[in-house]
Amino acid sequence: MSELLNALRSRQRDMLEFLTAMVERESITSDKAKVDVLVDLLEAKLNTLCADSVARLPQEDVGDFLYAAWNSAAPGKPYLFLVHIDTVHPIGSLESMPIKIADGRFYGPGALDMKAGVVIALEAIRHLVERDQLPNRPIQLLMTTDEEIGSPYSEALIKQTAAGCELVLVTEPATQEGAIKTWRKGGGKYELLIEGRASHAGIAPQEGINSIIEFARQALDINRLNDLKYGTSVSITLVDGGSAGNVIPAQTQAQIDIRVLTMEAMRNLHEALSNLHPKMPGAKVSCIRRHHRPPMERRPGLFEKAAAIGEGQGVTIYEGGTGGGSDGNFTAAMGIPTLDGLGAHGDGAHALHEHVIIDSLPRQAALIAAILLEWDAES
Ligand SMILES: [Zn+2]
Repeated sequence: MSELLNALRSRQRDMLEFLTAMVERESITSDKAKVDVLVDLLEAKLNTLCADSVARLPQEDVGDFLYAAWNSAAPGKPYLFLVHIDTVHPIGSLESMPIKIADGRFYGPGALDMKAGVVIALEAIRHLVERDQLPNRPIQLLMTTDEEIGSPYSEALIKQTAAGCELVLVTEPATQEGAIKTWRKGGGKYELLIEGRASHAGIAPQEGINSIIEFARQALDINRLNDLKYGTSVSITLVDGGSAGNVIPAQTQAQIDIRVLTMEAMRNLHEALSNLHPKMPGAKVSCIRRHHRPPMERRPGLFEKAAAIGEGQGVTIYEGGTGGGSDGNFTAAMGIPTLDGLGAHGDGAHALHEHVIIDSLPRQAALIAAILLEWDAES
C-alpha cells in the first residue's frame, strides 16, 4: 500500500464523523432554510482548510453556494472541484432511513449522492494543505445546492468558473461497479402544451376541440422518437388534461424527459420536438425546452492518465458511464477535461437503501490527492 493511501486510511474515522454531521443535516434542494444549515457547517469547515478565500454566495430560492480558492497567486490554469450538497430526500427521511453503519457500509439519505463526495474532496485538499504539497496551480472549489433540480441557479456560475480551467474534478458517486464516469448522457425536460376548445360534452360536443385526443396523437409520434439502440430515450412522464367530467378538454399539458449520448442526437431531438404540428383542425401545439444538460462525451486519454496515476498509488480504477447527468456535463461540453464519478463507491443513490462503502472514502481521497500531485508530471 502506498504511503499516501496509508495516510488517508488513518483518516477514515474523521471522514466518517464529518459525513455523519453532513447527513444529519437534511438538505433537499427545495428547503432553503434547511440547506443553509448544512452550508453553515461547510463554510466553517472550509475556514479550517487554509484557503486564500472562502466566499458565501447568497441565493434567494435555494441554499447559498460556497466558493473557496487555494494558491490563487500561482501561475497556470486552475484545477476546479465541483460538488453539490443538496439531495432528493424529503426532510424527515432520517426517520425512515436512519444513519446506520453495517458491514462496512454507511447508510443515510444523500450519503452517496454526494455528501461522501464532498468529504472526499475536502480530505484530499486537507491532506495536501497540511503537507504543503498543493500543486503549483490555483485550486478552486465550487459547492452548489441546486444540482438535483438540474442546476438552474448555478449553471451560469459553474460555466463561468470552469472556463479556462485545466481540469474539473467532480466527486459525484462512482458507478455501481465502482468505476469513474467518463461519459454521461445529456438530458432535457420539455413542456408540451396542447390547446383545443372547451365545450359542453352533452349539449355541444361537436363544437369542442378535444386537447386530450390531440395529445394522444402527438404522444404516439413523440414516442417514435425513441432510439434506445443509440442511447436516445424520449419519455412522456407527466400528463394533466381536462377541467371537468362533462367538458371537452381545452388544455392538456405533459412533460417529456429526453436522454441522449451525443450532441448530434440532442440537436436532432430538439429540432423534432420544436416542430410538432397539430393533427386536428383548430388545435394548437407547443413544446418548449425548460432546461437541459448536454451529454458528456468520452474524451480519449483522460481516463488513461488518471488510471496511471491511481495505479502508482495502488488504487486501480475502472471507467464507466451513466444515463444520469451531473454538473460535469456542463464543463465537459465546454471542452474542459472533466473527471466525474470520483466520489464514493456504494449503491442506492436517491433510494431508501442509499449507502456508501466506507473504505472507498480514504481510497478515493488518495486517488484525488495523487491526481492533484501528479497531473502535471504525468504526460
Ligand atoms: Zn449528485
